[in-house]
Amino acid sequence: MGEFELIRRHFQRPGVQLPADVSLGVGDDGALLRPRPGHELAVSTDMLVQDRHFFASVDPAALGHKALAVNLSDLAAMGAVPLGFTLALALPEADDAWLSAFARGLFALADANTCPLVGGDTTRGPLNICITVFGQVRTGRALRRSAAHAGDDLYVSGRTGEARLALEHQRGTDWASAATGVHLRDRLERPSPRNALGVALASVDGAHAAIDLSDGLVGDLGHILAASGVGAELDVALLPVAPEIAALPEAHRLECLLAGGDDYELLFTAAPAARDAVLAAAVTSQTPVTRIGRITEGNGLRLRGAKGRPLSLRVQGFDHFA
Ligand code: ADP
Ligand code: MG
Repeated sequence: MGEFELIRRHFQRPGVQLPADVSLGVGDDGALLRPRPGHELAVSTDMLVQDRHFFASVDPAALGHKALAVNLSDLAAMGAVPLGFTLALALPEADDAWLSAFARGLFALADANTCPLVGGDTTRGPLNICITVFGQVRTGRALRRSAAHAGDDLYVSGRTGEARLALEHQRGTDWASAATGVHLRDRLERPSPRNALGVALASVDGAHAAIDLSDGLVGDLGHILAASGVGAELDVALLPVAPEIAALPEAHRLECLLAGGDDYELLFTAAPAARDAVLAAAVTSQTPVTRIGRITEGNGLRLRGAKGRPLSLRVQGFDHFA
């Protein structure tokens, strides 16, 4: 199977109709996207490298899902509606069964989000998957890291920590040995990006900053605080906790909740006057949302534990070059 045959067989889908905002997809020198008038184009790229982001043994269908999911999650954090994506793929060999499964996982999520594959590049090399997603958001309505205001409420969607627990389990870490189950593995290998919530929040007056949680709650919150020039109080006792996380000794529980990584939940801020509208956005998008703290003047993050007592912890986000 040559390069063009591989693309035709696995990544071209002649039977599938493109949405109205895509004039031209795979097959030409470039794709043509047509954002609606009064909208901005939101663009984001994420790369997945073998042994760094996934193990060679991972189910290729799950890998196809996750490669797109982490990119869709970035669009969710901007409040942008997906338009389409490109896929740059380096493969050690053209393995038909592997490619079929990868494409199945990829397209299932793409179709569920009306986000068609519109182009890409394919080359031989160590397994590496790079996706760029394109989305549209009404001009001026994107949720930015730099938009948090002192006095804002701080919210998180879903729950944090389960992906980290599943990862430690796969690594054979002793404190995670009891953490078995499909639900936990799916949290790591098949994250569900929060696009419906992100899009709903972009229409909420008073919804300000957002970030998607990829490197751990505290580290990612730090990005909002730095970009916005504000501080925050985080009420750790308010964080929603999965039963498997609640069962852990405190240090590991906090490590998972606050520094877990790979959560792909949204962390966002909104003015207290917008509480009802945020709740309505959670309901419309069928996404659980919890208020977990507030944005303060100045800088720095204060963690509060049980009964509001200050909690001091050394938790850090994931940094590939640290
Ligand atoms: P070019 O030489 O212009 O870069 P290519 O031969 O690399 O074109 O690709 C031919 C067509 O196939 C292009 O439309 C390109 O977007 C598409 N394509 C290549 N690889 C992929 C892929 N992995 N997924 C989707 N489309 C792809
Ligand atoms: Mg090319």
